[in-house]
Amino acid sequence: MIFDGLIDSHCHLDAAEFAMDREPVLLRARACGVLGQIVPAVRRAGWPFLAALVGEHPDLHPAYGLHPCYIAEHREEDLQALAGWLHEHPAVAVGECGLDGFEPELDWAAQQRFFRGQLEIADALGLPVIVHARRAVEQVWLVLRDYPRVRGVVHSFSGSLEQAERFWQRGFYTGFGGPLTYPNARRVRALVAACPAELILLETDAPDQPPASRRGERNEPAALPEILLEAARIRGESPEELAMRSTMNARRLFGLPEPSSLA
Ligand SMILES: [Zn+2]
Repeated sequence: MIFDGLIDSHCHLDAAEFAMDREPVLLRARACGVLGQIVPAVRRAGWPFLAALVGEHPDLHPAYGLHPCYIAEHREEDLQALAGWLHEHPAVAVGECGLDGFEPELDWAAQQRFFRGQLEIADALGLPVIVHARRAVEQVWLVLRDYPRVRGVVHSFSGSLEQAERFWQRGFYTGFGGPLTYPNARRVRALVAACPAELILLETDAPDQPPASRRGERNEPAALPEILLEAARIRGESPEELAMRSTMNARRLFGLPEPSSLA
């Protein structure tokens, strides 16, 4: 089945895992209807490569940021460099940024500093943020309260329903991907069912978080239809309806052009 115009709202197509076959990966994604991808950078050293990559492919939309899992690599001056970079390079969001409470060796105080710095940049530039909140949903929520104007998405959302509802009430989007395809992922599946239609985004997070059919393998954006089909089943909607809705949501949040203006 082919859904024309799907958007993978979170894909690390710039990652080294795709160095050998990035073009075939892109072609496979397009062939199954993934006609747009949001690609968030994770560290300063990767920004120039991402800028070059999106320059070659109009269906790739960049975000630039400093990911908490690479906190040991970031330097204080990288925040100022990010603000400067975003003035010179078009981007659909700031990110990937956020907090990670899963890996204990990541400097927590530094994570907070870099997250806040990126929220300030997003606020100043009027850009949405792409947020990573692994085992840190509550802490992310507390930080975001200090930046009431900032909009965005918490990708691969895995908090409680009560936490999700707070994000939704604030108008934050939640991104769902591979984990929802595992039958025992009850909490995430319940969140997918409960998510307001106007705030749901679909993502692969490739090369990470493969869906059930690719368990243990490298993930890729062509997996998005599988995620869509299962999410639609969980929500009791038609895949076509959810495809249209999630694409519309991604276009709205990231300010992407309407398909008609691309023709
Ligand atoms: Zn990511």
